[in-house]
Amino acid sequence: MEGLIFVLLIAVILGAAYRRKRKKRQAKVKQIQLPGRTPATAEMIHHSRQIDTFVRQQRCHCGGKVYVCAQSNIQNHGVTAMSHHKKMHVAVCECMRCEEVHRFYFEIEYLN
Ligand SMILES: [Zn+2]
Repeated sequence: MEGLIFVLLIAVILGAAYRRKRKKRQAKVKQIQLPGRTPATAEMIHHSRQIDTFVRQQRCHCGGKVYVCAQSNIQNHGVTAMSHHKKMHVAVCECMRCEEVHRFYFEIEYLN
């Protein structure tokens, strides 16, 4: 009898872990479709200052706020050929709650 209870307890724990993992995966799939999450859906901005504003509005799939860890220009990202007036930029961010790493892509079009 104790063996059966133990097996049922393990099944409940594994089931809960599986549901939690599936929910996280679904949230990630939903987030990747949001603007700025891939080079193909890069957020169009006109000044690098707008990166901080954009990142402050973003949330992790856990609901936590994210902050910028590093920023870099991207060369040869394979989406479209950038003119000399446009630059692709990536901001690597981390969630303050769960420490998940997020990348936000920006296409900076400098106005003259
Ligand atoms: Zn998080």
